[in-house]
Amino acid sequence: MSELPRPQIDEISRPYWEGLEQGRLLYQHCRSCGHNWLPARQTCSACLSTQLEWLQSRGQGRIVSWVVYHVAYHDALKDRLPYDVTLVELAEGPRVLTNIVNSRGGKALRIDARVDLAIEREGDMSLARFRLVEDAAP
Ligand SMILES: [Zn+2]
Repeated sequence: MSELPRPQIDEISRPYWEGLEQGRLLYQHCRSCGHNWLPARQTCSACLSTQLEWLQSRGQGRIVSWVVYHVAYHDALKDRLPYDVTLVELAEGPRVLTNIVNSRGGKALRIDARVDLAIEREGDMSLARFRLVEDAAP
């Protein structure tokens, strides 16, 4: 069984990954214009300011879009088919590419469905995944 590819962690993104290890989802906030975003950047994506700080998300969001993979393009994902890759917008504004832990192979996903943070261990990493608040199952 091969392992999932690991994210590239550098000085800019390190606080994000360390936050997840501590059970917190952090995003970047611009002190100049108030913009919030992910993934981590060196400058504000709205005004290019470097006056940035990390804030903790409440972990609540909504589904913006998703795709469902029926083919594994990496050996480590073969046992997970079909699986979703979902774009979640946090209440604070940043958008996160993630998986929904109770998506039932994508069948339970709905636009604007509310989701809560569900940090999961994957090997020696902690990943920000989400859980549908109200499962739409009949
Ligand atoms: Zn800014």
